[in-house]
Amino acid sequence: MNTNIKKLIRKNLINFTPYQSARHIGGNGKVFLNANEYPISTKISYDVNLNRYPEPQPKSIINLYASYASVKKDNVIVTRGSDESIEIIIKAFCNPEKDYILYFPPTYDMYKISAEIMGIKYISVPKLSNWQLNIDDIKKINKNVKLIYICSPNNPTGNIINVKDIIKLVEIFSKKSLIIIDEAYIDFCLESSVLSLINKYKNLIILRTLSKAFALAGLRCGFAISNIEIISILKKIIAPYPIPTPVIKIAEKSLNSENILLLKKRVKKIKKNRKFLIQNLKKMSYVKKIFDSSTNYILVKFYYSKKIFEYLCSQGIILRDQSDKLNLKNCIRITIGTYKECCILIKKLNLFIKKNIFRD
Ligand SMILES: *Cc1c(COP(=O)(O)O)cnc(C)c1O
Repeated sequence: MNTNIKKLIRKNLINFTPYQSARHIGGNGKVFLNANEYPISTKISYDVNLNRYPEPQPKSIINLYASYASVKKDNVIVTRGSDESIEIIIKAFCNPEKDYILYFPPTYDMYKISAEIMGIKYISVPKLSNWQLNIDDIKKINKNVKLIYICSPNNPTGNIINVKDIIKLVEIFSKKSLIIIDEAYIDFCLESSVLSLINKYKNLIILRTLSKAFALAGLRCGFAISNIEIISILKKIIAPYPIPTPVIKIAEKSLNSENILLLKKRVKKIKKNRKFLIQNLKKMSYVKKIFDSSTNYILVKFYYSKKIFEYLCSQGIILRDQSDKLNLKNCIRITIGTYKECCILIKKLNLFIKKNIFRD
């Protein structure tokens, strides 16, 4: 018999567009500057027995991360990347048909996508032209907003969201909403973290990950940090064994003091390369604007961005086109790679400019 699967799938998923991950989009590249990964692999090996199930919430990682972040161990839950944290918070707190999540484009796509998959409604308030929150418009929302996702530093714009505004929202929405601050890139600018605010406000959750500055995107390990009450609820609903044993072993090592020192070195290096790349981009006639970044990527507005993106792609340099995102026409996000990768990019861009003299 022929089963019509389209009739079985949940209605809200029939026309659903999945997350366009960098790996998904692919490309025949040599220089991958499209997924905000660290360009060089860490050399962490492990040796484990795999016949037993892993510890559901591995104490070792929790203790080590709590110590890195200067919080108590009861404030931390480990998840399969911070993407799983984004999702389980919606699972735990949003009622289908009734509750909304709120987010502020242009920003990371997974807040909306996770809500969509779970059939939760969403609403957005565009960021101001300086990429800060539009508090006046946010205040006017009269929907049942349960969760508010703020990415800081924001992906893909690279800026930190003003702490004053975050506090305003936390206070305005203290009776009805949880505020989630996605700090995936905060290790590049730790002084800007709002983590300590969890001790003052009960409706605040911070998301962290080992995927970016820790150089472990392939590991899939992230954290949600909040007060004990919220963390206990999340622990109740997370999958039984979310963190595979090899992941636990590698995460443990990546969080020892030696590797934390290496992390600081990596961050310094990326910042140095970022400065070098920006200095060179500034000299190029086709660069319209470079947005300030506190992260391992920069957002750049180009003249002829599509042609530049395609040319670099044909040369094996893969960047992330952001043109289809709200207010990001002609913008490309460039991950900061190694010094050598920055040099190749600069060289190819200059070559493109030399070969193509367009008239405005
Ligand atoms: C990369 C990224 C994540 C995903 O992190 P994982 O821990 O790899 O799931 C979350 N939020 C933002 C803003 C990111 O850029």
